[in-house]
Amino acid sequence: MIRADLHIHTKYSFDSSINPKTLVDQLYAHEYIKAIAVTDHGSVEGCRRVSELARVYTDVLVVPGIEVGTPEGDLVVLGKAELPPKPWGIREVIDFARENGCLTVVPHPYRGYGLGSLAKKFSFDAIEVLNGCSSTQTNKLAENLARETGLPGIAGSDAHHASELWTVYTEIQASLDIDEVLRAIRKGLVKVSSTGKSICF
Ligand SMILES: [Zn+2]
Repeated sequence: MIRADLHIHTKYSFDSSINPKTLVDQLYAHEYIKAIAVTDHGSVEGCRRVSELARVYTDVLVVPGIEVGTPEGDLVVLGKAELPPKPWGIREVIDFARENGCLTVVPHPYRGYGLGSLAKKFSFDAIEVLNGCSSTQTNKLAENLARETGLPGIAGSDAHHASELWTVYTEIQASLDIDEVLRAIRKGLVKVSSTGKSICF
């Protein structure tokens, strides 16, 4: 079993200040969170950079990803450091993910830029039920959505600044291997947890 923070932004997102080196250093130093997904807004530069820096360590894992802004709301794609071709409609992004063996995750469905209940109309792979920057109430609604759709629930800090890292995590029944992680999430072999360091609200 591994513990992963599956929603992190680096300075390659227009609204984040996290330095890739700081992120890798903190991941390496963290007591039990040993995997991350780097999900910048519309860019894969950050996850490429972070993966490169993490390569020298054997006991950490960086899952490449991206947070895509569709007209209806944000969508996270996990598994590849590649931009989906535009236009970024929900349908197109799901197709891109399928063709590339990636997962689609609905982040913070009930916050600003969230897909909300529209998520029920498409076939996504997982729902972010615990977002470190969302209120308890909003996360509860996301949990209900996961229950209703029968989709696995995952957790990510959605950190944009170093102080926001490592607030929540996903326990995944997998080893530190990208394919195993994606497979385990798809199968629902996941459980979300909070570190108690949650600071956003
Ligand atoms: Zn985000």
